[in-house]
Amino acid sequence: MPRRPISLVPHAGLALISLALATFSCQRGPETAGGERFSGALADSLVDRQLAFGPRVPGTEAHAEALAWLTGYLGARADSVETIAFTHVTTRSDTLELTNVFARFRPAEPARILLVAHWDSRPVAERSADPAARRQPVPGANDGASGVAVLLALADLFAREPPPLGVDILLTDGEDWGHDPVTLETLGEDMLLGARHFARTRGETYRPLYGILLDLVGSPDPVFARDGISLQYAPEVVSRVWVVAAELGYGDIFVDRIGGATDDHLPLNEAGIRTIDIIDSAFLGEPPWHTTEDTADKISARTLGIVGEVVLEVIRRQGAGGF
Ligand code: ZN
Repeated sequence: MPRRPISLVPHAGLALISLALATFSCQRGPETAGGERFSGALADSLVDRQLAFGPRVPGTEAHAEALAWLTGYLGARADSVETIAFTHVTTRSDTLELTNVFARFRPAEPARILLVAHWDSRPVAERSADPAARRQPVPGANDGASGVAVLLALADLFAREPPPLGVDILLTDGEDWGHDPVTLETLGEDMLLGARHFARTRGETYRPLYGILLDLVGSPDPVFARDGISLQYAPEVVSRVWVVAAELGYGDIFVDRIGGATDDHLPLNEAGIRTIDIIDSAFLGEPPWHTTEDTADKISARTLGIVGEVVLEVIRRQGAGGF
């Protein structure tokens, strides 16, 4: 957070007032549109809470328990929460019972922003160095829980301070399935299942201003490059988010480089729901990604706090007509 210089004045009383003003403006953030600050500490605790269920792999008890908890958490904070259950038969003939969670703030508002993260965990840790670990599930601290945690912490804030426009939170299921159970080969057609279902069933009628997807947003040293698919479908939204991040002092993390991946935003964009992805190019493709080492102890409250602060500021500026 940039700090305003404290002016040195000879009169002690004035100096105190000046100090108080500087402290106040620092708490609020000198560039922000105002309001309560996002809590990275809360988001960090919400990663731990999700990990406590165990890997949220479709078909497991942990998955069912996590779903009940997520629905309850959002139900206590949002204006409405919908669970959207669906079935997917994989290319290897597994039948998956999946559920998207869709929570809405100020549902009557026509101007809306969609926030997305995937709540499931990958059933295989195929990138693990130890061959025996490759058939175990990924704990999914950064890959899943980090994005969800930021969105839950935003929901907590919005419960006290309603957003200046409509906000929808979509927690997708089945993003990280997509593997051959024998060879562990990645199967792209069995991934992004929740986003595909949402795109297929709501894509023709649901039109937020734009969407922001969060994935891999909890590493201590993230590199958020400008994602290629996002630039293709919603370049001005990428611009807004990266400009806001730079203005808040995070230009070293939200870097001016191209990167990114195929993610839940692809089916949403293809259905006309223009969505960008904030995703860590440095974490993607390297251990602990898709290993059993993607654990909560490697999650940074500071990074979660930065991502939450940036998204919150984008929402506030959008609501204030600041773009
Ligand atoms: Zn993954």
